[in-house]
Formats: sequence, C-alpha cells, structure tokens
Amino acid sequence: FKEVVFVGRSNVGKSSLINMLVGEPVARVSKEPGRTRSINAFLLEGRIKLVDVPGYGFAKVSKAERESWKRLIESYFRERRQNIRCVFVLIDSKVGPTDLDKLMIEWLRHINIPYKVVLTKTDKASQKELSKSLELLKVVGVNEVIITSAKEGKGKKELYRSILEVVEG
Ligand code: GDP
Repeated sequence: FKEVVFVGRSNVGKSSLINMLVGEPVARVSKEPGRTRSINAFLLEGRIKLVDVPGYGFAKVSKAERESWKRLIESYFRERRQNIRCVFVLIDSKVGPTDLDKLMIEWLRHINIPYKVVLTKTDKASQKELSKSLELLKVVGVNEVIITSAKEGKGKKELYRSILEVVEG
C-alpha cells in the first residue's frame, strides 16, 4: 500500500484527525498525552495506508523512552521509504510550532521526504493565535498549511484532497 504518515506532539489531535478522515472511530482518542507507544495503521478507501506514529514531546517521557521513540521512527522511515508518499506534520493551532516540530520538519527535509503541515484544533484558537502560528511557520519556510478542526469537521475535504494528490499525483 501507498502510505501517508501522521506525526505530531502528543495530544495534538492526531487520532481525532484520523478518525475524521476515516469517518469511523478507528484511532483511540485520549485525554492523557503520550498513550500510544506503537505504530498503528488504518486503511482509507481500502487502499491508502494512514500511519499513526506515537506522538513526541510529552514532558514526562524519560530520556530512554525518547531514544526508543527515535529508533522506532527512524527505522520505520528507513524501511518504508519507498511506500511513504507524504508525512503530515500536525501542529496545534493554539500552541504553534514547537522546537520539536521544527526539528521534525528539518529532519524530513534532510531525508528528502515530502511533508505537509496541518494545523489542528482551530476551534480552540483565537484568530490572533492562528495568525501567530501561521506567521511562525512562515519563518521556518512553511507557507502552505491545511487548517483543521476534528471537533467541527473542518478541513476534512482539503486534507482528503491533499492525501489523494500525494498518493495519485
Ligand atoms: P493524539 O494524542 O494526538 O492522538 O490526540 P487525540 O486525538 O487523542 O486528542 C487529544 C485531546 O484533544 C482529546 O482530549 C481530544 O478530544 C482533543 N481534541 C482533538 N481534536 C480536537 C479538536 O479539533 N478540537 C478540540 N477542541 N479538541 C480536540
């Protein structure tokens, strides 16, 4: 299967977004950050693999756990490189890009994997917070952003279109 991968801080709303796309609650939504510790995959239209990797940046995670997260992700990307069409980097619209998000973007550029940035939970962010997040993303060279709210079902079409584009294009 061709794959698109979803990455982001713990609690960024990754599971909710995947559920919105699939149209069914396939991914586990949790209030507690850092619950998912393994890679999960869900099929879209029976042909596109949506890959949910564990979130990063959860404060209570030990150094050893961070290292094992890194190993898991790096080996996944190495092994699946041929199948991965795009990585969607999810960023909380209220929080904006964190240092870890920027590192992730830099790393994806470095290993030459296409990526797209998705802002999540826009229902929670004020116009000012949203503008700030967009501005901070521009500073790191990200000009195209998909704006979503799983709560309001916002951005589903755009995200879906974007996935089909990277898979078929
Ligand atoms: P994950 O850890 O990145 O997979 O994030 P989850 O999808 O499990 O969501 C983490 C928390 O954020 C849960 O309490 C969700 O209900 C909440 N959440 C997720 N998406 C949205 C959204 O679009 N709007 C709001 N207001 N809350 C959201």
